[in-house]
Amino acid sequence: MKYDCDIIQDLLPLYQDKICSGKSRAIVEEHISECTVCRKMVEQMGDSTVEEKLTQEKNSVIQKHQKIVNRKTTTIGMTMAGILMIPVLVCLICNLVIGHALDWFFIVLTAMLLVASFIVVPFITETGRLMWVIVTATASLILLLLTCCIYTHGRWFFVASSGSILGISVVFAPFVTMPLCREMKLERHKAALTVLWDTIWLYLLLIACGVYIHGDARYWYMAMTISTYIVVLVWIYVFIIDYGKRNGQIKAGILVALSGIWLGLANDILNFFLAPVGEADGHGLGGLDLSKGFSVNDIAVLNANLLFVIIVVSVCVGGLMIFSGMIKEKKENEMEQ
Ligand SMILES: [Zn+2]
Repeated sequence: MKYDCDIIQDLLPLYQDKICSGKSRAIVEEHISECTVCRKMVEQMGDSTVEEKLTQEKNSVIQKHQKIVNRKTTTIGMTMAGILMIPVLVCLICNLVIGHALDWFFIVLTAMLLVASFIVVPFITETGRLMWVIVTATASLILLLLTCCIYTHGRWFFVASSGSILGISVVFAPFVTMPLCREMKLERHKAALTVLWDTIWLYLLLIACGVYIHGDARYWYMAMTISTYIVVLVWIYVFIIDYGKRNGQIKAGILVALSGIWLGLANDILNFFLAPVGEADGHGLGGLDLSKGFSVNDIAVLNANLLFVIIVVSVCVGGLMIFSGMIKEKKENEMEQ
Protein backbone atom coordinates (compact mmCIF):
# COMPACT_ATOMS: atom_id res chain seq x y z
CA MET A 1 0.00 0.00 0.00
CA LYS A 2 1.32 3.35 -1.09
CA TYR A 3 -0.45 5.40 1.57
CA ASP A 4 -0.92 5.14 5.28
CA CYS A 5 -4.45 4.25 6.52
CA ASP A 6 -4.57 7.46 8.61
CA ILE A 7 -4.13 9.61 5.53
CA ILE A 8 -6.82 7.67 3.65
CA GLN A 9 -9.22 7.88 6.57
CA ASP A 10 -8.75 11.64 6.70
CA LEU A 11 -9.78 11.75 3.06
CA LEU A 12 -12.80 9.45 3.48
CA PRO A 13 -15.38 12.14 4.41
CA LEU A 14 -14.37 14.17 1.33
CA TYR A 15 -14.47 11.01 -0.79
CA GLN A 16 -17.89 10.13 0.56
CA ASP A 17 -19.20 13.64 -0.13
CA LYS A 18 -17.67 13.45 -3.62
CA ILE A 19 -15.87 16.73 -3.16
CA CYS A 20 -12.25 15.54 -3.33
CA SER A 21 -10.12 15.88 -6.45
CA GLY A 22 -9.97 13.14 -9.05
CA LYS A 23 -6.44 12.34 -7.95
CA SER A 24 -7.43 11.84 -4.30
CA ARG A 25 -10.39 9.80 -5.43
CA ALA A 26 -8.19 7.45 -7.40
CA ILE A 27 -5.84 7.10 -4.42
CA VAL A 28 -8.70 6.28 -2.03
CA GLU A 29 -10.25 3.78 -4.45
CA GLU A 30 -6.92 2.08 -4.99
CA HIS A 31 -6.36 1.91 -1.24
CA ILE A 32 -9.75 0.48 -0.29
CA SER A 33 -9.48 -2.21 -2.93
CA GLU A 34 -6.52 -3.53 -1.00
CA CYS A 35 -7.28 -2.54 2.64
CA THR A 36 -10.23 -4.23 4.39
CA VAL A 37 -10.19 -1.84 7.39
CA CYS A 38 -10.67 1.27 5.31
CA ARG A 39 -13.16 -0.47 2.99
CA LYS A 40 -15.28 -1.36 6.00
CA MET A 41 -15.23 2.28 7.12
CA VAL A 42 -16.49 3.40 3.72
CA GLU A 43 -19.29 0.82 3.85
CA GLN A 44 -20.23 1.93 7.36
CA MET A 45 -20.53 5.53 6.25
CA GLY A 46 -23.17 4.19 3.87
CA ASP A 47 -25.05 6.40 1.53
CA SER A 48 -25.59 9.27 3.93
CA THR A 49 -23.19 12.13 3.76
CA VAL A 50 -21.34 13.50 6.78
CA GLU A 51 -23.61 16.50 6.91
CA GLU A 52 -26.73 14.34 6.95
CA LYS A 53 -25.26 12.23 9.71
CA LEU A 54 -24.47 15.30 11.80
CA THR A 55 -28.01 16.66 11.34
CA GLN A 56 -29.50 13.30 12.24
CA GLU A 57 -27.38 13.10 15.36
CA LYS A 58 -28.19 16.70 16.33
CA ASN A 59 -31.92 16.11 15.85
CA SER A 60 -31.92 12.93 17.86
CA VAL A 61 -30.10 14.69 20.74
CA ILE A 62 -32.60 17.58 20.65
CA GLN A 63 -35.56 15.19 20.52
CA LYS A 64 -34.22 13.15 23.40
CA HIS A 65 -33.70 16.30 25.46
CA GLN A 66 -37.15 17.60 24.51
CA LYS A 67 -38.71 14.32 25.61
CA ILE A 68 -36.99 14.49 28.98
CA VAL A 69 -38.05 18.13 29.48
CA ASN A 70 -41.62 17.33 28.41
CA ARG A 71 -41.80 14.37 30.74
CA LYS A 72 -40.46 16.50 33.61
CA THR A 73 -42.91 19.37 33.00
CA THR A 74 -45.82 16.94 32.66
CA THR A 75 -44.81 15.39 35.98
CA ILE A 76 -44.69 18.85 37.61
CA GLY A 77 -48.09 19.67 36.11
CA MET A 78 -49.63 16.43 37.33
CA THR A 79 -48.13 16.90 40.80
CA MET A 80 -49.60 20.39 41.08
CA ALA A 81 -52.95 19.12 39.85
CA GLY A 82 -52.74 16.50 42.61
CA ILE A 83 -51.94 19.15 45.23
CA LEU A 84 -54.91 21.22 44.04
CA MET A 85 -57.15 18.19 44.45
CA ILE A 86 -56.47 18.16 48.22
CA PRO A 87 -58.59 21.23 49.13
CA VAL A 88 -61.22 20.11 46.63
CA LEU A 89 -61.51 16.70 48.30
CA VAL A 90 -61.44 18.23 51.82
CA CYS A 91 -64.28 20.58 50.84
CA LEU A 92 -66.23 17.79 49.21
CA ILE A 93 -66.05 15.72 52.40
CA CYS A 94 -66.87 18.69 54.70
CA ASN A 95 -69.71 19.73 52.47
CA LEU A 96 -71.25 16.28 52.48
CA VAL A 97 -70.66 15.74 56.21
CA ILE A 98 -72.47 18.92 57.28
CA GLY A 99 -75.40 17.93 55.13
CA HIS A 100 -75.21 20.60 52.45
CA ALA A 101 -76.23 19.28 49.08
CA LEU A 102 -72.91 20.09 47.44
CA ASP A 103 -73.80 23.80 47.24
CA TRP A 104 -70.65 25.79 48.02
CA PHE A 105 -68.48 22.84 47.07
CA PHE A 106 -68.86 23.78 43.42
CA ILE A 107 -67.59 27.29 44.15
CA VAL A 108 -64.39 25.82 45.63
CA LEU A 109 -64.10 23.36 42.74
CA THR A 110 -64.44 26.01 40.03
CA ALA A 111 -62.12 28.38 41.92
CA MET A 112 -59.50 25.61 41.94
CA LEU A 113 -60.07 25.07 38.21
CA LEU A 114 -59.24 28.74 37.69
CA VAL A 115 -56.02 28.35 39.69
CA ALA A 116 -55.20 25.16 37.78
CA SER A 117 -55.55 26.86 34.42
CA PHE A 118 -52.69 29.18 35.41
CA ILE A 119 -50.34 26.75 37.13
CA VAL A 120 -51.17 23.32 35.67
CA VAL A 121 -52.13 24.02 32.06
CA PRO A 122 -48.77 25.62 31.11
CA PHE A 123 -47.00 22.44 32.21
CA ILE A 124 -49.17 19.87 30.48
CA THR A 125 -49.61 21.60 27.11
CA GLU A 126 -46.79 21.27 24.60
CA THR A 127 -47.85 23.82 21.98
CA GLY A 128 -49.88 27.01 22.13
CA ARG A 129 -49.41 27.37 25.90
CA LEU A 130 -50.59 30.97 26.14
CA MET A 131 -53.67 30.18 24.06
CA TRP A 132 -54.65 27.25 26.27
CA VAL A 133 -54.10 29.23 29.48
CA ILE A 134 -56.35 32.04 28.19
CA VAL A 135 -59.08 29.65 27.01
CA THR A 136 -59.12 27.46 30.13
CA ALA A 137 -58.83 30.43 32.54
CA THR A 138 -61.73 32.20 30.85
CA ALA A 139 -63.85 29.04 30.83
CA SER A 140 -63.21 28.37 34.53
CA LEU A 141 -63.86 32.03 35.42
CA ILE A 142 -67.25 31.78 33.70
CA LEU A 143 -67.98 28.51 35.55
CA LEU A 144 -67.00 30.19 38.83
CA LEU A 145 -69.36 33.10 38.11
CA LEU A 146 -72.12 30.61 37.26
CA THR A 147 -71.72 28.62 40.48
CA CYS A 148 -71.59 31.82 42.59
CA CYS A 149 -74.68 33.14 40.82
CA ILE A 150 -76.60 29.92 41.40
CA TYR A 151 -75.43 29.78 45.05
CA THR A 152 -76.58 33.37 45.73
CA HIS A 153 -79.76 32.93 43.66
CA GLY A 154 -78.63 35.93 41.61
CA ARG A 155 -79.73 36.80 38.10
CA TRP A 156 -76.56 38.65 37.20
CA PHE A 157 -74.75 35.77 35.48
CA PHE A 158 -75.12 37.00 31.90
CA VAL A 159 -74.15 40.59 32.76
CA ALA A 160 -71.05 39.45 34.69
CA SER A 161 -69.96 36.77 32.21
CA SER A 162 -70.46 38.76 29.00
CA GLY A 163 -68.67 41.74 30.61
CA SER A 164 -65.79 39.51 31.73
CA ILE A 165 -65.46 37.86 28.33
CA LEU A 166 -65.52 41.22 26.53
CA GLY A 167 -62.87 42.64 28.87
CA ILE A 168 -60.63 39.58 28.55
CA SER A 169 -61.18 39.45 24.77
CA VAL A 170 -60.16 43.06 24.15
CA VAL A 171 -56.72 42.30 25.62
CA PHE A 172 -56.21 38.59 24.96
CA ALA A 173 -58.33 37.61 21.93
CA PRO A 174 -55.42 38.21 19.50
CA PHE A 175 -53.34 35.56 21.32
CA VAL A 176 -56.07 33.02 20.63
CA THR A 177 -57.17 34.04 17.13
CA MET A 178 -53.57 34.28 15.84
CA PRO A 179 -52.64 30.60 16.35
CA LEU A 180 -56.14 29.50 15.31
CA CYS A 181 -56.00 31.53 12.09
CA ARG A 182 -52.53 30.15 11.36
CA GLU A 183 -53.88 26.63 11.69
CA MET A 184 -56.92 27.31 9.52
CA LYS A 185 -54.92 29.32 6.95
CA LEU A 186 -56.96 32.45 7.65
CA GLU A 187 -54.02 34.62 8.67
CA ARG A 188 -55.07 37.26 6.18
CA HIS A 189 -58.22 37.87 8.19
CA LYS A 190 -56.96 37.56 11.76
CA ALA A 191 -57.64 41.20 12.65
CA ALA A 192 -61.16 41.08 11.21
CA LEU A 193 -61.94 37.83 13.05
CA THR A 194 -60.59 39.24 16.33
CA VAL A 195 -62.68 42.40 16.02
CA LEU A 196 -65.72 40.32 14.98
CA TRP A 197 -65.38 38.30 18.19
CA ASP A 198 -65.08 41.51 20.27
CA THR A 199 -68.05 43.07 18.46
CA ILE A 200 -70.28 40.07 19.15
CA TRP A 201 -69.45 40.20 22.85
CA LEU A 202 -69.98 43.97 23.06
CA TYR A 203 -73.52 43.55 21.73
CA LEU A 204 -74.14 40.51 23.94
CA LEU A 205 -73.09 42.64 26.94
CA LEU A 206 -75.48 45.41 25.87
CA ILE A 207 -78.28 42.84 25.54
CA ALA A 208 -77.43 41.28 28.93
CA CYS A 209 -77.47 44.71 30.62
CA GLY A 210 -80.75 45.63 28.92
CA VAL A 211 -82.41 42.44 30.10
CA TYR A 212 -80.95 42.81 33.61
CA ILE A 213 -82.27 46.34 34.13
CA HIS A 214 -85.50 45.60 32.24
CA GLY A 215 -84.45 48.31 29.81
CA ASP A 216 -87.20 50.11 27.93
CA ALA A 217 -87.22 51.08 24.25
CA ARG A 218 -85.19 54.19 25.07
CA TYR A 219 -82.40 52.08 26.58
CA TRP A 220 -82.19 49.79 23.55
CA TYR A 221 -82.24 52.69 21.11
CA MET A 222 -79.54 54.68 22.93
CA ALA A 223 -77.28 51.71 23.71
CA MET A 224 -77.34 50.44 20.14
CA THR A 225 -76.99 53.85 18.50
CA ILE A 226 -74.05 55.12 20.57
CA SER A 227 -72.20 51.78 20.53
CA THR A 228 -72.69 51.27 16.81
CA TYR A 229 -71.34 54.75 16.05
CA ILE A 230 -68.02 53.76 17.70
CA VAL A 231 -68.02 50.15 16.43
CA VAL A 232 -68.33 51.34 12.83
CA LEU A 233 -65.15 53.44 13.28
CA VAL A 234 -63.29 50.39 14.62
CA TRP A 235 -64.40 48.33 11.62
CA ILE A 236 -63.25 51.07 9.22
CA TYR A 237 -59.84 50.85 10.97
CA VAL A 238 -59.73 47.09 10.35
CA PHE A 239 -60.63 47.39 6.67
CA ILE A 240 -58.23 50.25 5.94
CA ILE A 241 -55.28 48.75 7.85
CA ASP A 242 -55.75 45.12 6.78
CA TYR A 243 -57.21 45.38 3.30
CA GLY A 244 -56.06 48.85 2.13
CA LYS A 245 -53.65 48.65 -0.79
CA ARG A 246 -51.65 51.85 -0.13
CA ASN A 247 -48.53 52.10 2.05
CA GLY A 248 -48.62 52.35 5.84
CA GLN A 249 -48.04 56.11 5.97
CA ILE A 250 -51.04 56.88 3.74
CA LYS A 251 -53.28 54.49 5.68
CA ALA A 252 -52.17 56.00 9.01
CA GLY A 253 -52.83 59.50 7.65
CA ILE A 254 -56.34 58.53 6.53
CA LEU A 255 -57.06 57.05 9.95
CA VAL A 256 -55.74 60.09 11.85
CA ALA A 257 -57.89 62.46 9.80
CA LEU A 258 -60.91 60.16 9.91
CA SER A 259 -60.68 59.61 13.69
CA GLY A 260 -60.58 63.37 14.29
CA ILE A 261 -63.60 63.98 12.06
CA TRP A 262 -65.51 60.94 13.41
CA LEU A 263 -65.02 61.84 17.06
CA GLY A 264 -65.29 65.60 16.48
CA LEU A 265 -68.68 65.12 14.83
CA ALA A 266 -69.79 62.44 17.34
CA ASN A 267 -71.81 64.87 19.47
CA ASP A 268 -73.65 66.38 16.54
CA ILE A 269 -74.42 63.11 14.79
CA LEU A 270 -75.47 61.32 17.99
CA ASN A 271 -77.58 64.32 19.05
CA PHE A 272 -79.34 64.07 15.70
CA PHE A 273 -80.17 60.41 16.35
CA LEU A 274 -80.98 60.83 20.05
CA ALA A 275 -83.21 63.89 19.71
CA PRO A 276 -86.33 61.80 18.90
CA VAL A 277 -86.04 60.07 22.32
CA GLY A 278 -85.28 63.35 24.09
CA GLU A 279 -81.67 62.48 24.94
CA ALA A 280 -79.78 65.07 22.86
CA ASP A 281 -77.58 67.31 25.03
CA GLY A 282 -77.05 69.98 22.37
CA HIS A 283 -73.30 70.01 22.99
CA GLY A 284 -71.96 69.90 19.46
CA LEU A 285 -70.23 72.09 16.92
CA GLY A 286 -73.32 74.26 16.85
CA GLY A 287 -71.97 76.41 19.69
CA LEU A 288 -68.76 77.21 17.81
CA ASP A 289 -67.48 80.72 18.63
CA LEU A 290 -63.71 80.92 18.25
CA SER A 291 -63.69 84.61 19.28
CA LYS A 292 -64.46 83.44 22.84
CA GLY A 293 -61.35 81.17 22.92
CA PHE A 294 -61.03 78.37 25.49
CA SER A 295 -61.39 80.14 28.81
CA VAL A 296 -65.10 80.71 28.70
CA ASN A 297 -67.69 79.82 31.26
CA ASP A 298 -70.09 78.74 28.56
CA ILE A 299 -69.56 74.98 28.44
CA ALA A 300 -71.34 74.59 25.08
CA VAL A 301 -68.99 77.09 23.42
CA LEU A 302 -65.89 75.55 25.04
CA ASN A 303 -67.02 72.11 23.88
CA ALA A 304 -67.63 73.26 20.33
CA ASN A 305 -64.32 75.13 20.12
CA LEU A 306 -62.39 72.07 21.37
CA LEU A 307 -64.15 69.76 18.91
CA PHE A 308 -63.36 72.18 16.10
CA VAL A 309 -59.66 72.28 17.03
CA ILE A 310 -59.55 68.45 17.24
CA ILE A 311 -61.00 68.16 13.73
CA VAL A 312 -58.69 70.81 12.23
CA VAL A 313 -55.53 69.42 13.85
CA SER A 314 -56.25 65.80 12.93
CA VAL A 315 -57.13 66.69 9.35
CA CYS A 316 -53.90 68.72 9.02
CA VAL A 317 -51.71 66.01 10.59
CA GLY A 318 -53.46 63.24 8.65
CA GLY A 319 -53.21 65.25 5.42
CA LEU A 320 -49.45 65.73 5.90
CA MET A 321 -49.02 62.01 6.51
CA ILE A 322 -51.02 61.14 3.39
CA PHE A 323 -49.00 63.66 1.35
CA SER A 324 -45.61 62.35 2.48
CA GLY A 325 -46.84 58.77 2.03
CA MET A 326 -47.78 59.53 -1.56
CA ILE A 327 -44.36 61.04 -2.23
CA LYS A 328 -42.76 57.93 -0.77
CA GLU A 329 -44.95 55.68 -2.90
CA LYS A 330 -44.10 57.64 -6.04
CA LYS A 331 -40.37 57.35 -5.31
CA GLU A 332 -40.66 53.62 -4.75
CA ASN A 333 -42.58 53.20 -8.02
CA GLU A 334 -39.89 55.17 -9.89
CA MET A 335 -37.16 53.01 -8.39
CA GLU A 336 -38.97 49.85 -9.48
CA GLN A 337 -39.21 51.05 -13.07
ZN1 LIG B 1 -6.31 1.24 5.07
